[in-house]
Parts: sequence; structure tokens; C-alpha cells
Amino acid sequence: MQSKISHLLFVVVAACLLLLTACGDNATPVPAQSGASSAGSKEESMLLGTATTGPAPTPTDLPPTSTPLPPPKVVIIDPGHGAEDWGTFHSDSQDQPDILEKTVVLKIAQKIEAKMDPTAFKVILTRTGDMSPNFPPQDFNGDGKIDQVDDLQARINIANENKGDLFLSLHINSSELGNEVGGLETWYAGDRPFAADSKRFAELVQQKNLDSLAAVGYQAENRKVADDSDLDPSGQDIFVLGPDVGEHRGATNMPGALTELLFLTNDHEAALLNDDKVQDKLAEGLAGAIVEYFSGS
Ligand SMILES: [Zn+2]
Repeated sequence: MQSKISHLLFVVVAACLLLLTACGDNATPVPAQSGASSAGSKEESMLLGTATTGPAPTPTDLPPTSTPLPPPKVVIIDPGHGAEDWGTFHSDSQDQPDILEKTVVLKIAQKIEAKMDPTAFKVILTRTGDMSPNFPPQDFNGDGKIDQVDDLQARINIANENKGDLFLSLHINSSELGNEVGGLETWYAGDRPFAADSKRFAELVQQKNLDSLAAVGYQAENRKVADDSDLDPSGQDIFVLGPDVGEHRGATNMPGALTELLFLTNDHEAALLNDDKVQDKLAEGLAGAIVEYFSGS
């Protein structure tokens, strides 16, 4: 973006950037959950000849009918980067990378999944390990090469194939200004049909992140919640949030946001991000943002 500060723009460089972010890999799409198994069902017991016999139940013997639960909301969590694409990173005093964006965002994504009520939410991660979501690798846009655009397209495809109701991409920022820059940003695409919902979700995400860090004693700078067209002078969107134009071969067709969780180039923020308890708190807040998004729509 305008700032030299976003890692999108300079560390992960053009890829994450112009494609705007979330460069990545592609985990094999998670197939939709099938319905309840029939194993052990009444039908099976009847087929096996084990159904009990006896007098037919009278109406008063029948259990009360219950209202069926609504189908779970499908939430797509997209941990940025993966495999050889580290995203941004923190370096130790010997100038050796010691904390990687790809690792931290995966841990937070897995913690969010663990905190969601499985009867109300079906959570799909675009990658479940240190891998590319684009696997086996495919040249989705047919340009003769398999690159980060295809990785990003794979994330979009996973979201759509799983019929996501909501999309959340997790990233961490960086700045060449090191410890001088820190804080939180969350982006949404203002040019999509569901932009109002995306903005509402982005604002919830940003506030929860601020609250989570305050709860562990850190007053993070509230940098911005903004339309992703602010990132690029030409108004180009973040790839995983934007419309089906240019190199896209399909766009995410559900509301979504991309959050930049602090700066790994800031020593204090990097230490927080590497702390399991802080990761847990951030995940708790983000799980809460998802619940509140659906309860408030
Ligand atoms: Zn990133």
C-alpha cells in the first residue's frame, strides 16, 4: 500500500502484494461433510433383522419432536503463505530468521477452529500444515506457469467449493522501519456485492484483535480498517477478496476480511506473536468475531 510498511508491498514483494497478499499454497479442498452415518441406525437394525418387536407405541409413548438445528455456518480460515513461501519473518540478534509468518498464522487458524462450536460452525482451513493449498499444483489461470497467483486462486477455490458463508485470511505485517512500526490492520473489499457485510466483519475482527491484545497487557496501535482499494494506486483489490477480474478464475463469493496481526519486524510484537498464550487469546477473539458476525446479521 502506500506505506512502505506493509510486508505485502516489500517483503513478500510483488506476489503478496500485487496479488495482494496471501500468497499461498493450496491444501486439498476439504470435501463437504457428509450427512449422518446410517451405521447403527434403525434402518440398519431392521435390515439386519435385529429390530425389536412389540406392541406399536401409542402417541403418548412417542418422544417429543424437537426443532431441527439449522445447518452449520461454513467458515473458511485462510492462514497465509506456507511451504517455501514464509511470508514475513522476525530475525534474531544474529540476523537469523526465528519467527515465521506462515507458522504463526497456521497456529492461530488451528486455535480458532478448535474454539468453534462444531454443531454451529463448520470450519475449513485452506491449509492444515506447512504446505501449499495448490496441491497437486495446477496452473489455474493457464498462463503456462504455476506461481503465487495460482496459490491464491487455490484458496479462493477451496472457499467456494466448500460453500463458505464467511472468509477470514490471516497475515502478519512487516516494515523496513523495524521497531518504529507496529499495530493492527484489517482489510475488506468495498467493491463486492456483500461489501457491507465484509466491512461489518472486518470491524469486528479489528476490535477483537485490539481487545485480545489489551487483555494480555499490550495496547496495540489501531492502524486501520479499510477498503482494500486503498492498498494500490490503481485500486486493485487483495486477490483473495477481490472480484473475478484480471488473473482471477473465480472470486470468493462470500463476505470476508484479511487481517494483519501486528508486525513481525517489531521485536516486542514478534515476541507476543510467538507466545502460545497470546496466540490463544487472539484466536479466542477471532472466534468471537465470527460468532458475533452471524448473530448480528
Ligand atoms: Zn502475509
